[in-house]
Amino acid sequence: MIKTRFTEMFGIKHPIVQGGMQWVGRAELTSAVANAGALGFLTGLTQPTPDDLRKEIKRCREMTDQPFGVNLTILPTLVPRPYGEYIDAIIDSGIKIVETAGNNPKPFLPKMKEAGIKVIHKCTSVRHGISAEKVGVDAISMDGFECAGHPGEDDVPNLVLLPAAANVIKIPMIASGGFADARGLVAALALGCEGVNMGTRFMATKEAPIHQNVKEKIVSSDERNTALILRTMRNTSRVYGNSVAHKAIEMEGEGKTIQEIGPYVAGAKGKVVYETGDLEHGIWSAGTCMGLINDIPTCKELVERIVSEAEEMIRGKLAKAIAA
Ligand code: NAD
Repeated sequence: MIKTRFTEMFGIKHPIVQGGMQWVGRAELTSAVANAGALGFLTGLTQPTPDDLRKEIKRCREMTDQPFGVNLTILPTLVPRPYGEYIDAIIDSGIKIVETAGNNPKPFLPKMKEAGIKVIHKCTSVRHGISAEKVGVDAISMDGFECAGHPGEDDVPNLVLLPAAANVIKIPMIASGGFADARGLVAALALGCEGVNMGTRFMATKEAPIHQNVKEKIVSSDERNTALILRTMRNTSRVYGNSVAHKAIEMEGEGKTIQEIGPYVAGAKGKVVYETGDLEHGIWSAGTCMGLINDIPTCKELVERIVSEAEEMIRGKLAKAIAA
């Protein structure tokens, strides 16, 4: 077992987190991750309304008695979302772990703290990590440029971002972006983190509630198959590099507005990709760690493999590297 301040703080067995993923973070996956001894997150905005989120939390509780949390990503959306009402749904459902992302969680923190919620804030720069620590979050998920979804605008990969953050951040920090195997977990520990957050890796698991075509595409793709959309709007998102993503980038190059590009990048279309397996129907998130993913295990097989190989690596290869 690998025990860290993070596993202690959140009452989990393994220092592995399944972070928020739009359309993917549903009860099937989150409960499987929780039952594997890692920390799963339902994605709040995947549920169309706060009431639907209440129902999803209840459904997840029926599938696991282990701790799990809810992700709330606070970013611009094509159709405005009532973030405050989602927080209310999280609080009155008795959730005790929240992952915030996309924006400073300060406005929502007093309410969550009052409800005894521990907050992990996902951010993409050292300065945002420092601000989040100052406003009182409990842990940081530091997200490097390798990640799927929103990597921020600084383009700093984790080999530098994580130790730079660890130099100044005191609360527990987990590493996010590019993590998919035991080598990543060991590296994250060495770089100053107390666990890893994985998204794309958990998409390619048996329990992920997405079409088999998406899982197989992740397995057959490599680290070069992603694309960065919405760069021109300073809301960069790393997605699978399909024809829709490249069309959106072309339109951005022509100076088109978000209203004009919206129909291409809309999450509603990405949802159809996950449901039907039509990989060119819309954009769908995927990270560079596709280059490290070669199978579709259960969550339990994946988590146990990562932890046991990491232990073996620390006790074996790394320990033996010290000259007698
Ligand atoms: P959506 O369909 O509302 O929007 C599609 C994309 O356009 C999103 O990336 C969104 O941030 C962006 N966008 C919308 N309005 C914008 C504007 N005015 N200016 C600049 N960019 C704009 O989004 P969705 O797919 O339904 O997802 C819902 C939320 O979850 C969004 O905020 C999205 O960014 C977020 N999300 C987060 C992750 C992650 O990595 N944490 C992954 C997927 C989606």
